[in-house]
Amino acid sequence: MVKVCKFGGTSMATADSIRKVAEILLSDKERRFVIVSAPGKRFSGDDKVTDLLYASFNEAQATGDCSKSFKKVEERFVSLQKELGIKTDLQPVLKEIKSRIDVSQTPDYAASRGEYLSAVILSEFLGFPFVDAKDIIRFTEAGAFNADYSNDIIVKKVKPLAAAVIPGFYGSKDGGEIVTFSRGGSDVTGAIIARGVAASVYENWTDVDGFMTADPRIVDKPRIMRTLSYTELRELAYMGANVLHPESIFPVNSSGIPINIKNTFNPSAPGTFILPESTGENIVTGIAGKKGFTVIGIEKSMMNSEVGFARRILSVLEHCGICFEHMPSGIDTLSLVIADTELQGKMQKLTDKIREAVNPDLLQIHSGLSLIATVGQNMASRPGTAAALFGALAEAGINVKMIDQGSSELNIIVGVETADYERAINAVYDRFFR
Ligand code: ASP
Repeated sequence: MVKVCKFGGTSMATADSIRKVAEILLSDKERRFVIVSAPGKRFSGDDKVTDLLYASFNEAQATGDCSKSFKKVEERFVSLQKELGIKTDLQPVLKEIKSRIDVSQTPDYAASRGEYLSAVILSEFLGFPFVDAKDIIRFTEAGAFNADYSNDIIVKKVKPLAAAVIPGFYGSKDGGEIVTFSRGGSDVTGAIIARGVAASVYENWTDVDGFMTADPRIVDKPRIMRTLSYTELRELAYMGANVLHPESIFPVNSSGIPINIKNTFNPSAPGTFILPESTGENIVTGIAGKKGFTVIGIEKSMMNSEVGFARRILSVLEHCGICFEHMPSGIDTLSLVIADTELQGKMQKLTDKIREAVNPDLLQIHSGLSLIATVGQNMASRPGTAAALFGALAEAGINVKMIDQGSSELNIIVGVETADYERAINAVYDRFFR
C-alpha cells in the first residue's frame, strides 16, 4: 500500500514544524511519496515565501534587480538549513535563482522556487530522494496542464521508486519553461501524484483538524466533517470553503482515491475523509457562502411563450464575456445572478444589449446579494430538508431573495441581503448541526 502525503505551507514554515512532518512520515512506512508547499507564515503578519517570490519578480520587472525582496527569501531558507543541520550549501542555488528571476519574463519561475527549495531541504532531512516536479508534471505549449502525458511519466519514473520528495505547485513545458498552477496548487500536484502511483489514500496535511461544516469566522466552533463526497466538496469549495484547491479532485476522482485532510499539529485526530460517494451519515454535510453578487431581473409578459428568449439573453452574456452563477426563472421573469467581479465595467453594455435583444417590459438591478449553499448528497429525495432550511431563515427574520435547487438535489442555494449573510448562515447551521 502506498500513501501520498502533501504538506502545506504552515507545516513547512519552521524547523520545528518540519521536524513534525518528518516524524509523521517516518511513523508509517506506507507514507512514501511526499509533496510540499513553500514555507508559509510562521506567525500572523509574517510573509509567505511564495508572496516574497512574487514580490521579487515584480521588483526585478521594475528595477532589473530583485535584491531587496529576495533577501527575505534567502534568510528564510538559510535559517531552515542551519536549524535543521542540512549540509547542502544553498548559497550557489540561491544565487542562481536570484539571477534568473532578474531576467524572467513571467512570474512562474520565481513563484515555483519556494516549493523547489522546500523539497530540497525536506528530502535531505528525511534522506528521501528528490524528484523535480519539472520533470514529471507537464504543461502544453499553451500552458494547460497535460494530465495524461504527466500521468504516463509519473507511472514510469515515480511509481517504481521506494520514496520521493516532490515540490508542489509547478511543472514545465516540453522546452523546460516552468509553469505554475493557480495559487494553492500544491494540492493539485499531490492529487496528480496520488493518481500516478495508484495510492491507497491521498493525505493532505494542513493546520486544521479537518473540513469544517461552516466557516469558523462566522459560526462559533463549527463541527468537523468526518466524511464528505467529491461532489459535495466541489460544491462547498466552489462556494468559498477553501481547505483544498478545488482542482485537486479531478485526478483522484477518476481512480476513486480517498483524500484524507489531516492536521500536522494534531496528527492523531482522524481528520476528514473525502470519498467517491457520500456515506449517508448526515443529511446536510456543510454550509458555505459567498458575498458580492448582483441580480439582474428581466420581466416581459408572455415570456414563457416566446421561443428563444433565454437563448438571446445567454448570447448577450457570451458576447460581453460574462459568466453567470444562476438563472432562476418564473413565467414572465428571468433573473441572472452574476458575481460583481464579472460585472466590473461591463454593466452598462450588458443591460443595453439585453434591452436590444429581448425588449423587456422591465429590467431591474439589485446589488448586495450574498449566496448561501446548504450542501448534502443525502438531501435528495428526502422530504423536509427545504422546510427546515426555510423555517430556520424565517424564524431568524431573514428575507430570502432567491432560491435555486439543482435537479441533483445536492444543494439548496439561497440569496439573501449581504447585511443578513452572517445571521443567515448561523440560523441554518443551528438548525442542522446544533
Ligand atoms: N505556495 C503556493 C501558494 O502559496 C502553492 C501552495 O502552497 O499550494 O499558493
